[in-house]
Amino acid sequence: MFAQVKLMMAGKYEEFHKKLGAQQDLESRVMAALKALEYILPLDVHCDRKDSQISSYCLSLAMNDHTPFSLKLTIMAIREAGGFDKLREQLGEFKKNKDCLEKGFSEDGTYKSNTYKPLYYLEAHEDKRWLPEFITMTLNMSVILYFVFVETSFFGKSSDKSLKALLNNKNAIFTANLIAFHYMIIQTNDHEMSEVTHYGQHMGLGAVIHPFCSLFNHSCYPNVSRVPILGSDNVMYQMMMVQHAIKKGSQIFDDYGFDFTLENAARRKDLCQKYYFECRCKACRNNWPMFEKLPSVIMTCTSQTKKNDIVTAMSRVAKVESVILEGDIATLDAEHETVFKILIDAVNFLSNYGTSPPTKEYLRTVTLLKTAYLVIYGNRINL
Ligand SMILES: [Zn+2]
Repeated sequence: MFAQVKLMMAGKYEEFHKKLGAQQDLESRVMAALKALEYILPLDVHCDRKDSQISSYCLSLAMNDHTPFSLKLTIMAIREAGGFDKLREQLGEFKKNKDCLEKGFSEDGTYKSNTYKPLYYLEAHEDKRWLPEFITMTLNMSVILYFVFVETSFFGKSSDKSLKALLNNKNAIFTANLIAFHYMIIQTNDHEMSEVTHYGQHMGLGAVIHPFCSLFNHSCYPNVSRVPILGSDNVMYQMMMVQHAIKKGSQIFDDYGFDFTLENAARRKDLCQKYYFECRCKACRNNWPMFEKLPSVIMTCTSQTKKNDIVTAMSRVAKVESVILEGDIATLDAEHETVFKILIDAVNFLSNYGTSPPTKEYLRTVTLLKTAYLVIYGNRINL
């Protein structure tokens, strides 16, 4: 990354590495990274200054997407509160709340995902992070903060744009800490927003933070799936769709991009690296095989009558599958109620032969149901 290279060129990278490693709290690390700007400046950024867009600036510095996103969340939080001081006051109040069942909720008891409070309480895993992550995060933060300080009047209209002035600006330091904090929130909680093609393929549009969706725990065998939709108000939402019958009182599980059809050891390692937990869902605990090695209910069912019923249900599913995979949107739109009825009836019927791990037929139908949700309800690319 650009800032790291500049530190290396100045012979200061090792010193910075040690300094950050010696600090235990985010605030001290943020301050160390801001002071390191002394060796990173000037930035020599080759972007069009007339069009001082943060995005082109970040691109020219080969910065990851989390950094401008963190800045955006910070600006939104400051605006929502009504200024730096009001946000400081609010955060002081937030920190007093220790009750995990109340945290994030408004005083009227609602959980408003489109406001800052629930976002502030999302998991950041600050205590579990490795030093290299703090290095990347704080250096990116310091470079983007410097840009805002020099190129805008966000921190006041003073013409003194020196590094010393930045380090003495309490609102800039406050903002720096929030950017770093939001960076961690984003890494742990962001969800991809995408458009789907008629073949059920995704095309990523970007990432969003949706505090309500972040409340769901992970399972490699989830019982709901997220479907990005475009609301009639032209705002994008995440809809949570049920993919298995959920017994009253049982937990709702989402999957964080890793389901049990991915190889077990690699999946658990990736989950641990990205989300800092060892997955103990039933698929992981019991080392469920990948799709090819799942049992087949048609092959194992001993009753010919039941076998005939299963074959009939699966032949209906196969017809729906071909309509979805062929991308026949007109038919899907016109017959979506029938499509869902066939799939949901088949899921419920096959669940009578519930096995652990699930049968091939069951998983195939559930996967198809998920694709149908995406294609029929999801945010669609121009078809
Ligand atoms: Zn798992």
